[in-house]
Amino acid sequence: MSATTEYVSDDGEITLLVTNTVIDDWQFLKQDKKEKAEAFGVLIGGQNHDASQFWIKACTTPLAKDKSTRTSFYLKDTRHQKFVDKHFKESNGTSGYLGTWHSHPEPIPIPSHIDLKDWHSCCARNPDRKLIFVIVGISHFCMYHRTGKYFERICKESL
Ligand SMILES: [Zn+2]
Repeated sequence: MSATTEYVSDDGEITLLVTNTVIDDWQFLKQDKKEKAEAFGVLIGGQNHDASQFWIKACTTPLAKDKSTRTSFYLKDTRHQKFVDKHFKESNGTSGYLGTWHSHPEPIPIPSHIDLKDWHSCCARNPDRKLIFVIVGISHFCMYHRTGKYFERICKESL
């Protein structure tokens, strides 16, 4: 078992368990220097039956065939999906695609219109589960999920 950190939503209704290696990746890839391009990847994990508890077991990070600039990214490398498939198989289906993460070059991240549009299409493609989205800022990272038609911030945590 890998070490995990537990986060609780502001309203106390959602618990998120994040493997520390994932937080280490976010810490390492956050855009705290001008030359660092936007970082991103998929989240891999699972949730309980009523979506009150989520676990983020692993994440992917930018790969050779992806494209990114300081303020945009384009997830192109097919190995992101292969990584998800591998986790799904090895966990006997308990761990799979759970959402996406990306970085913002601002201390406390705020989702852009493009982010919200992208998240809506991720949710539409995965109607069988609740998804989690993470934006990694410089001093904090924030987690979001969709409630009805809108995205709500679950929590804001320091990095
Ligand atoms: Zn963004």
